[in-house]
Amino acid sequence: MKIRDNSDSGWIGFEQRHVWHPYSAIDAGLPVYPVESASGVRIKLVDGRELIDGMSSWWSAIHGYNHPHLNRAVETQLQRMAHVMFGGLTHEPAAELARRLIGLTPEPLQTVFFADSGSVSVEVALKMALQYWQAKGESGRRRFVTIRNGYHGDTFHAMSVSDPDNGMHSLFSSTLVKQYFAPAPQSRFGESCRQSDIDAFESCLAPVSAETAAVILEPVVQGAGGMRFYSAEFLRRVRELCDHYDVLLILDEIATGFGRTGRMFACEHAGVSADIMCVGKALTGGYMTLAATLTTAGVSAAIGAGNPGLFMHGPTFMANPLACATALASLELLLDSPWQQRVAAIEAGLRSGLAPCSEMSHVEDVRVLGAIGVVELKTAVDMRMIQPRFVAAGVWVRPFGKLVYLMPPFVVNETDLRTLTDAVVRVVGASV
Ligand SMILES: *Cc1c(COP(=O)(O)O)cnc(C)c1O
Repeated sequence: MKIRDNSDSGWIGFEQRHVWHPYSAIDAGLPVYPVESASGVRIKLVDGRELIDGMSSWWSAIHGYNHPHLNRAVETQLQRMAHVMFGGLTHEPAAELARRLIGLTPEPLQTVFFADSGSVSVEVALKMALQYWQAKGESGRRRFVTIRNGYHGDTFHAMSVSDPDNGMHSLFSSTLVKQYFAPAPQSRFGESCRQSDIDAFESCLAPVSAETAAVILEPVVQGAGGMRFYSAEFLRRVRELCDHYDVLLILDEIATGFGRTGRMFACEHAGVSADIMCVGKALTGGYMTLAATLTTAGVSAAIGAGNPGLFMHGPTFMANPLACATALASLELLLDSPWQQRVAAIEAGLRSGLAPCSEMSHVEDVRVLGAIGVVELKTAVDMRMIQPRFVAAGVWVRPFGKLVYLMPPFVVNETDLRTLTDAVVRVVGASV
């Protein structure tokens, strides 16, 4: 890949030649839009155009951008300290955020490990499961069982439990630890679980349960691995099988956590809880990177009682005070808001607004759950063509593969939501 010299065309030209973007390449020829600022549900481009945000910056900006309450939390914490190391030191924002998270998550989760991104929180969860079994004298339990179409992050062990074929990580398959993949459940959200789904899962888990440390799943909604919504009863049955075969259950709520599916956590649709749970994305309301891995008193105590009696992970920026203070403010904002009504209104708006897509012959499926609306096409979209059309329509929508989807900030109003769904209907309709 050639990198051209620095002939000056301002920062935009420079960045195009020198800065990587997610799942992109230098000089990939894909459009990248310079942003001047963002406020509420509007992203303002350097050229003055304003786009209504349909993505919440990948599930995270649930309160919209430039929120006064979150800004104040950052500013107040900044006056105290931006950061101190967490080894041997601690601070109130971390303690209070942990208290909040333990209060919000299902009962048995009692301890919190702060990580710096979702992928890292998944690594931490997998390591916790491995150390738990090692401490219990079962160091042969080194593998993980999951379902296809999952996505758990871009780091190596997170890749190993993500869908092995759907394109994001298949390039690395020879380097990855081989995990066990059950088929993705075919029973959809709102349906009861077909016996064939649970039988398929059990036939994957049963023969390898003695070497399995944990099952890891995204509860109810599979995100970047296909935006699928599966039967809550399937999740309930998986929980039962984990108990039956004595393996831990890790729930990855990084995308689904904090109300996106209509419940605070997606596992509540199934009435199950995890032995280990990951949260991230919306945790700071999209302000900065922070994630957390929660686990039970039992798992924590077992790790502490094992050898070396310490959990072997500790990022430099662990529990960054600015991020913790912002997360605390974001949770206050969420809990003080009528978020259930807002998500229900968005769900209704997405359902009616996206309905015309289901009539289109090149559309495979339209599905909505909570504040997530998905239009699945029969073939992958051409990003070079479709992205500028959305921008021309005044909205920020970023499809991937066959999926055009909306997950707006919870504060979106009816008019702006209508603009978003109308744009999807028009652009998808024109993309035959
Ligand atoms: C985004 C995501 C991750 C990875 O989080 P990063 O912050 O991007 O590292 C892991 N699991 C799920 C379900 C996600 O949606």
